[in-house]
Amino acid sequence: MGHDTIVVGMGAMGSAAAWQLARRGHSVLGLERFDIPHDRGSHHGVTRIIRLPYYEDPAYVPLLRRAYALWREIEAASGEALLHITGSLDGGPADGALFAGALRSARLHDLPHEVLTGAEVARRFPAYALPDASRFVFQPDGGFLASERAVLAHVRAAQEAGADIRARVRVHDWATTPGGGVRVRTDQGSFEAATLILAAGAWMADLLPDLRGLAVPERQVLAWLQPRTPALFTPARFPVFNIEVAEGRYYGLPVFEVPGFKFGRYHHRGEAGPADAVRRAPDAADEALLRGFAERYFPTGCGPTMALRDCLFTNTPDEHFIIDRHPQARQIIVASPCSGHGFKFASVIGEILAEMAIGDGRTRHEIGFLRLDRPGLRPG
Ligand SMILES: Cc1cc2nc3c(=O)[nH]c(=O)nc-3n(C[C@H](O)[C@H](O)[C@H](O)COP(=O)(O)OP(=O)(O)OC[C@H]3O[C@@H](n4cnc5c(N)ncnc54)[C@H](O)[C@@H]3O)c2cc1C
Repeated sequence: MGHDTIVVGMGAMGSAAAWQLARRGHSVLGLERFDIPHDRGSHHGVTRIIRLPYYEDPAYVPLLRRAYALWREIEAASGEALLHITGSLDGGPADGALFAGALRSARLHDLPHEVLTGAEVARRFPAYALPDASRFVFQPDGGFLASERAVLAHVRAAQEAGADIRARVRVHDWATTPGGGVRVRTDQGSFEAATLILAAGAWMADLLPDLRGLAVPERQVLAWLQPRTPALFTPARFPVFNIEVAEGRYYGLPVFEVPGFKFGRYHHRGEAGPADAVRRAPDAADEALLRGFAERYFPTGCGPTMALRDCLFTNTPDEHFIIDRHPQARQIIVASPCSGHGFKFASVIGEILAEMAIGDGRTRHEIGFLRLDRPGLRPG
């Protein structure tokens, strides 16, 4: 047997798993098809939001608490600032799912929070011009992660703990071995291990065809616009947001590194398809859609465009993650945490995957709601 565990994909989840395995003394081979990091998958674009009052489901909140602690651990191990606190705003129409869900999580988990009207948000954070009738949960612990740097920090820490990490190695397929292990076939030879973690992001269904229709890549576009009043769009004065407005559900972050505030629309223009086939380069229609949103709700942010970047979501039908063992082969662990909201969990998902790969394979975390056989996981 070559290694204890092979991890396919050195993106957000795979890099965190590699570190968590290696720091436990496990021998790890991490394989990445492109570069580390790269801009073809789901982790690029400088930053990702982290927020606690989880409107998607309160069951994520205990995972988030551990994620925060583990982000601080990788910061200490790497000596890099990765997690930046700005506060978060989550809301929309008072009777909408986003506001109601965020408030429910905040109350259920006793999170410090305030409920603000659109006008109150504008008084406190003048960059925002949201409908006054809408309601928003302000939560002071929200913020953002430096995403490519976080991937690099996990990879470096994994290497320092002994992991063997290789970029530009494409995994073609895998098979179980008669001894109960696994063999992985790549464009640079075959490798064997006792367990296999599949963390291939938008390419999961290529390696696990049962996931076709259950883990569906979708093109996204991010915009960075130079604010006309830059002082209002700094991390100190601009909380990260997730909002529901007439035009759809949008998210955004303050200026950080790129001289523009960054935002995007969930399910941008609804363009789904296999990861290698989906249209990529941003165009004028992408820019017009995003600028239209900013002109209405962030009028002082709407200066010249600084950047447009495309990126891939991997959506499940119920928009919850998949973290489970392969139903026919327990030594294969499947990790597909995206649907546009997975990055913030990467630190804790690394821990979960390591726990699943070692010893009796049990994790301390409650992840039953993310299993493969749940009712919500049917092709939509
Ligand atoms: C535009 C955009 C905005 C987002 N905003 C947020 C946010 O604000 N907050 C948040 O929490 N989440 C956000 N997300 C979601 C988050 O980024 C993803 O959930 C997360 O990156 C998924 O991690 P992953 O490891 O599954 O995928 P990735 O990070 O893409 O990693 C998968 C890796 O597997 C590699 N791979 C694939 N196939 C093979 C193969 N055959 N052989 C070897 N390697 C392979 C890929 O090259 C890739 O590097 C956003 C996503 C996008 C696209």
